[in-house]
Amino acid sequence: MSIQEQLAGIRQKMDEAARRAGRSPETVTLEAATKVQTSERIREAIAAGIRVCGENRVQEFNAHWADGAYEGAEVHFIGHLQKNKVKYLVGKVSLIESVDSPELLGAIAQRACRLGVRQDILLEVNIGREESKSGVLPENLPALAAQAGAMEGIRLRGLMAIPPVAEVPGGNSQYFAEMYQLFIDMREKKYDNEVSIDCLSMGMSDDFEEAIAHGSTLVRIGTALFGKRPPMRVRG
Ligand SMILES: *Cc1c(COP(=O)(O)O)cnc(C)c1O
Repeated sequence: MSIQEQLAGIRQKMDEAARRAGRSPETVTLEAATKVQTSERIREAIAAGIRVCGENRVQEFNAHWADGAYEGAEVHFIGHLQKNKVKYLVGKVSLIESVDSPELLGAIAQRACRLGVRQDILLEVNIGREESKSGVLPENLPALAAQAGAMEGIRLRGLMAIPPVAEVPGGNSQYFAEMYQLFIDMREKKYDNEVSIDCLSMGMSDDFEEAIAHGSTLVRIGTALFGKRPPMRVRG
């Protein structure tokens, strides 16, 4: 199937999941997870109607950016991010979804201030408390959110999570429900800065309908859109 056909099928499932949850379909955005895709495939996805691309690796982002592959879409960064790579992203990507430490937050703020911009960010939560995963633990989230909500150069937009791989279909409901509660708590707090807490990024190819049922506003989809990826190293 072409990207366009896959996209139509995904969009339909998203819309139905939203309606079942009593939500309007426009409240959920589809983000194409473009890791390992070529610039050509990214252009094809944008031509088919994708308006948000999510990149995992700074190196791939730089290459596609130099190619002009993202024309017609905005780009989010969704991968593990090192402080020394922040300079390649700030002011170019519309959202950094994977902020999980005060140090990273500080590096983004510093770069944004130098450029005279405000960088939109999400805080990534390690909701499954997995050793192998990035993300702030739920109990450390309020302190990091307060910091993010007070920092010059930063605009706090919400939360992102990559829950554990579900053993059975529907196995991640509990994590999605916990994320939604953290998101609501975050929205109700007062912050020093003007914030706009409107984004809850959760749900991937195997569980986006479940995530939407639990309040996701942004689903990140790779395999269901582009097909199966070749096996790869976990990080780069
Ligand atoms: C790869 C990736 C996705 C998409 O995963 P699929 O299962 O292929 O849909 C979503 N979010 C992040 C952070 C990813 O790295």
